[in-house]
Amino acid sequence: MRVLIGGGSGFVGRELTHLLRRKGHDVTIISRQPGPGKITWSELESDGLPPCEATVNLAGENLMNPLRWWNENYKKDLFSSRIDTTTSLAQAIAASPSPPQAWVLVTGVACYRPSLTARYSEESEWTPFDLLSRLVKEWEEAGSLPVTVAQKTRQVIIRPGAVLGRDGGAMKQMMTPFWLGLGGTLGSGRQPFPWIHVSDLAGIITHAIENSSSTLPSAVPQVFNGVAPATNTNYEFTKELGRVLRRPTVFPVPGFVIDALMGSERAVVLTQGQMVEPKRTLESGFQYKYPDLSSALKEIVDR
Ligand code: NDP
Repeated sequence: MRVLIGGGSGFVGRELTHLLRRKGHDVTIISRQPGPGKITWSELESDGLPPCEATVNLAGENLMNPLRWWNENYKKDLFSSRIDTTTSLAQAIAASPSPPQAWVLVTGVACYRPSLTARYSEESEWTPFDLLSRLVKEWEEAGSLPVTVAQKTRQVIIRPGAVLGRDGGAMKQMMTPFWLGLGGTLGSGRQPFPWIHVSDLAGIITHAIENSSSTLPSAVPQVFNGVAPATNTNYEFTKELGRVLRRPTVFPVPGFVIDALMGSERAVVLTQGQMVEPKRTLESGFQYKYPDLSSALKEIVDR
């Protein structure tokens, strides 16, 4: 298959590209920068969708960019980098004389309201309640295809929790303090911490692409939660990472400090959380390589 990946140069995109190529698929990346194996977003807009059987969007300004202050400009970029790229791809698919079989949009679990007790599956109803849930709403709406196109192209939305891997995401920023023995729980530590190993997220995207011909396209996107089957709290994550690294984790960071450093609208992803179940992902027959924290963290640390 020929697979086109918006934002394929990033943390998840590199893992996905690697997996797809290993399985014999052809990958083209859409990027802001030209280069071999890439097209740019302006080329997509001027030349239309290149021939492909599957299209994925992973593009977006990093939510935890350590080089940027949390301000209105940053929030604007978080929205526009996701919504504009998703709109461009949905429009290019709609205008294509031979649209792909699958259109996979990767968003996030921030649509589910944080709670210590509620359990969410792909079937849970939700309405936006804060900045990040509004972002997910607008982002997913931007990916929606016209009904006539959705009869040919299967629409899939994957909502990942924190993506764990050695080369990016949250772990990249956490490894040094934990190595130095400065790790600790965030906020109360009781908040759920939905997570997935990057290799499993790449696997779920690939599974969605490869199984696209077996399911009929529908006007409503099929949603898969991109989280591990194990549900853990921030305390459990912290203790397990300390155990795997053989380092103490005795420095809790109070919630108000995280709010002050990161901005409370963004800090919710660390100080609060949701118990998210991958019900439909499991029902689809996807087999996780790293279903529990211990195996996932061990792979990341040993690598
Ligand atoms: P990255 O931060 O690695 O970014 C992916 C790519 O997006 C980059 O390689 C870059 O491609 C492109 N990009 C970055 N900033 C902009 C911008 N301002 N405008 C347009 N394009 C931009 O993302 P991940 O791989 O970590 O995540 C992939 C997707 O999954 C994202 O949408 C993210 O929101 C979502 N997600 C990620 C989680 C995680 O823990 N990592 C958790 C939940 C959801 P280039 O420079 O080539 O243009």
